[in-house]
Amino acid sequence: MPVKIALVGRPNVGKSTLFNRLAGKRLALVDDTPGVTRDRREGEGALGDLSFTIIDTPGLEEAPEAALEGRMRKQTDAAVMEADACLLLIDARAGVTPLDKTFAGLLRESGKPVILLANKAEGSAGEAGFYDAYALGVGEPIAISAEHGEGMGELYNALEPFIAEAEGEEEEADEAAEWDNPLKPLRVAIIGRPNAGKSTLVNRLIGEERLLTGPEAGITRDSISVEWVWRGKDRDWPVKLFDTAGMRRKSRVQSKLEKLSVADALRAIKFAEVAVLLLDAEHPFDKQDLQIADLALREGRALVIAVNKWDLIEEKDAKIREIREMAARLLPQAPGLPIVTLSALTGGGIRRLMPAVVQVYIDWNARVKTPELNEWLQEAVQRHAPPAVSGQRIKIRYIAQTKTRPPTFVAQCTRAEDLPAAYKRYLVNGIREAFDIKAVPVRLILKKPD
Ligand code: GDP
Ligand code: GDP
Repeated sequence: MPVKIALVGRPNVGKSTLFNRLAGKRLALVDDTPGVTRDRREGEGALGDLSFTIIDTPGLEEAPEAALEGRMRKQTDAAVMEADACLLLIDARAGVTPLDKTFAGLLRESGKPVILLANKAEGSAGEAGFYDAYALGVGEPIAISAEHGEGMGELYNALEPFIAEAEGEEEEADEAAEWDNPLKPLRVAIIGRPNAGKSTLVNRLIGEERLLTGPEAGITRDSISVEWVWRGKDRDWPVKLFDTAGMRRKSRVQSKLEKLSVADALRAIKFAEVAVLLLDAEHPFDKQDLQIADLALREGRALVIAVNKWDLIEEKDAKIREIREMAARLLPQAPGLPIVTLSALTGGGIRRLMPAVVQVYIDWNARVKTPELNEWLQEAVQRHAPPAVSGQRIKIRYIAQTKTRPPTFVAQCTRAEDLPAAYKRYLVNGIREAFDIKAVPVRLILKKPD
């Protein structure tokens, strides 16, 4: 599906002229059925090497005066909703009118990316209107002449990132749809330092005591992975478990155990979608545990903390408080990590592990819709404005999720390099909270507006 670009603006600003210029000869009238949502033209648009679908909202002048604004609003709403980005046109010669403001407000509310075009600006005409256009609050205007083809290079530069991004989103969406495929196993790695109880846990999970004695019915295993089906509440989840303990035995390298287990963990992490860091309750979060956890998060994996040997702990309440506090302090990059206490030896608490794994996996695949994100961004920026740097306020204008697994967001930000880390954290934590994305790494990339 090509990216959809809507042309928005009051009558007579030059939408049809721009439409014809962009659609060229390949103009296709695909939608000429009258009616509120269908009363518009779509065509195949091109600008340089960019191709897109272009939506126009023509024919409005014929409507009775009184009904005009409401009807335009409805049509524009429908076109905007469908679009990936909008071009808002004004007539730079006429200056900004109240109706232009109405359209600008509508687009701001929609949360869609907007490119503001001050049309009829051939030569030096329309200069005053061009500067007026800043007041619409939808960013910097681009001076163009739809009739004479001026400013098309600037328009190209403005459109290109949106089209590239929207196309990227589409690929990602295809990939993300896969997570829901009930036949594709969820890849889980159990990682942790030697003696944490990894082999014992793997045995317990697959309900098979002699891990090394070959395949049993319903379980396929090789030296480093085991596949089985976990029966969840709503559906069955095929799970492929990466067994780092088995891998270590296979390598038969018993010296340099410390070093090796981190290398094992890294291999397992690369394989996995979700990593379960198994801690020994009696020695939680030692240096190697933290190294492994950090590795998993930096690789962008979803992480669950499992605290093993819980049967050995007497003061359980105090212990869990201590472990929660340590997790928050030592792993601030992933607040709210799920922590499951269990005993691989007795089986206690084991049934809580897979639900936690599936939950972080779902969060890891989370996709937030662009309008919702931008609505959130506006509120977040209003509540707590970005700081000013050498007298100029940093502006964050537009945000979109470009990837899942883990959720990755790109925001357009002036002076991105000057935005304090604390403010970036404020935004990341805000995204987590607003869209309920816990425990998985959330990436935010700040990009200069093009
Ligand atoms: P729409 O109602 O927004 O679709 O506007 P049209 O495309 O029908 O244009 C309205 C009028 O503005 C027409 O007379 C066009 O010829 C004129 N027009 C459109 N673009 C330009 C431009 O870049 N410069 C000038 N001077 N006139 C333009
Ligand atoms: P690995 O090196 O991480 O694979 O650890 P193992 O599974 O080989 O376990 C190391 C030791 O811890 C063995 O002696 C296990 O019996 C013991 N162990 C594992 N899980 C538990 C548990 O939940 N409780 C207790 N008390 N001991 C455990």
